[in-house]
Amino acid sequence: MTKTYKEPGRARKLCPGNCGLYIHVRSKTCDSCVGKVEITESTKPQKQKSKTKSEKTNTTKQPKRQQNRILTPAGKCPIKPSGNLEAPEDIENWCNVLLKNNPAFSADALVYFGREFIDINNEIDKFRNFEKIVRGAFA
Ligand SMILES: [Zn+2]
Repeated sequence: MTKTYKEPGRARKLCPGNCGLYIHVRSKTCDSCVGKVEITESTKPQKQKSKTKSEKTNTTKQPKRQQNRILTPAGKCPIKPSGNLEAPEDIENWCNVLLKNNPAFSADALVYFGREFIDINNEIDKFRNFEKIVRGAFA
C-alpha cells in the first residue's frame, strides 16, 4: 500500500500519475496509478508481458528493447527447451520463456541458444527451420 496525501509536505512528491495526490518521495506511484504510469528512473527493467505482435501499437508501455539488445549471449542458455525444437509452437514457447528470463535477448541470441540443442553438423535442416521460425516470430 502506498500512502497518499492531499497536500504536499516533507518527503512527499506529486504522484507521477494523474490522480493529483502526493506520495512519499521514495514511492513510485500511488496504488491507483500503479501500472498506468511509465517510470523513467530505470533502476531495473520492468517485467513486461512480451507481446511480440502488438509492439507497434502500444509503444508507451513497452520497455526500450531496441537498445542494449543482446546479440550474442555470454554463457550457456539459461533455460532448456522442454518441447520439440521442430514444432513452431514449442519453439515459440521456449523463446517466450527465454525472453521472460531476459527481455534483452534478440532473435540472434535465441538462434544462438538453439545451437546448443541442435547439432548443426547432423541436423542442419532442423536448425534452419528453427532459425526461420525464431526470426519470423521474434525479429
Ligand atoms: Zn497516483
